Amino acid sequence: MDLDKNISLNEDIHSNKFLFNTQLSVNETNKSLDSSIQLTNFFPQKQIALLDLDYFFAQCETIRNPLIKDLPVVIIVQTIRGSGAVATCNYLARDLKIRSGMVLSLAKKLANNETIFINADKQYYTQISLKVFEIIDFFCDSVEQTSIDEAYLDLTNPLGFEKAQKICLNIKNKLKNDLGLSCSIGLSFNKLLAKMACEEKKPDGFTIIPYSKKDDFLLKKNVKKIHGVGPNLELLLKNIGVYKIGDLRKIHLEKLIELFGESKGSMLYNYSRGIDDRVIIVNREKQQISRMITLKKDSIVFDEIKNSLDFLCEIVFNESKKLQKQFKTCSLIVIESDFETITRSKTFDGKIDFEKFKEIIYFLLRDYISDSTKLIRRVGVRISNFDEDYGFQKKLLDF
Ligand SMILES: [Mg+2]
Repeated sequence: MDLDKNISLNEDIHSNKFLFNTQLSVNETNKSLDSSIQLTNFFPQKQIALLDLDYFFAQCETIRNPLIKDLPVVIIVQTIRGSGAVATCNYLARDLKIRSGMVLSLAKKLANNETIFINADKQYYTQISLKVFEIIDFFCDSVEQTSIDEAYLDLTNPLGFEKAQKICLNIKNKLKNDLGLSCSIGLSFNKLLAKMACEEKKPDGFTIIPYSKKDDFLLKKNVKKIHGVGPNLELLLKNIGVYKIGDLRKIHLEKLIELFGESKGSMLYNYSRGIDDRVIIVNREKQQISRMITLKKDSIVFDEIKNSLDFLCEIVFNESKKLQKQFKTCSLIVIESDFETITRSKTFDGKIDFEKFKEIIYFLLRDYISDSTKLIRRVGVRISNFDEDYGFQKKLLDF
């Protein structure tokens, strides 16, 4: 899959670090990345998104067999007792009241004669998930993968909420265009509200809750919408007259701790106010590192573009050293003045040092220039095809 094809070009789609650096002129290239990281700390409010693929396994099956697209689709797994259970199902099956976790015999009773039952194909879903995360990684550096089809993204950057919003839309469009997958995204300022926003509209939803709107969003919601409030806790809360998050907020912290213990009590107190300090724990092994920059003026002259490439090569190479990644593939990404994206790559066996890396990138640019007449608007450098084993990721995808 060529990640760069048809990218929607709202610019500056990369990491937070990159977003800052794009504001620097090429003459300022000696500024270190660390200074940009410190600067981002002046922006106390975070932008956190939760991305969840809609009925993922069922969507994967629909990609493989588009004929089942408009039928109720139920994916089943075998339980240890030998009977089947519903792993997931699409919205048409949900309309029939079939639910994840339901025993197969009950799901079959609820099904109509159009309902398709399919055994879960773990290997196939894992392959698709890898492609999904390739796209997510391309747009965001801070990703906490929470399951085969769900991840938190830290999109905090100096350019604010609007930028984060654009990145979310870019990811959403790319997943749809390249893989045919729909997802729901919640964007807010912490994990709690990102998750609640994501739940708000499914499938194919995109819900944004800025800080200023948090109370409008929270107060009228049922307490069970709070992350961590299961049926038991919901019942206990009902017993003290708490139905809505607004009711919960009226109860003193001391009272909540007395009733539910220190940890749950403070959690309820904080969450009812939209307070959640949990950070994104980046747990994904990177599959590629890339950076892009907008040229000061559109150009097709090698010497006018070389400085920008040197800058990008240095950032990308240093990042690979920091992460101890040995790469085999080097790519040049060119965004032309009419926003068309071209990627040229070269793959080598053996170690690529900095000089060789730059040479390869120069070669790719010269090669591009030799048969193109269009002006270049943005350039990017990417390394991929890392020489290592993705142990942690394999574990996450185990289900
Ligand atoms: Mg999902």
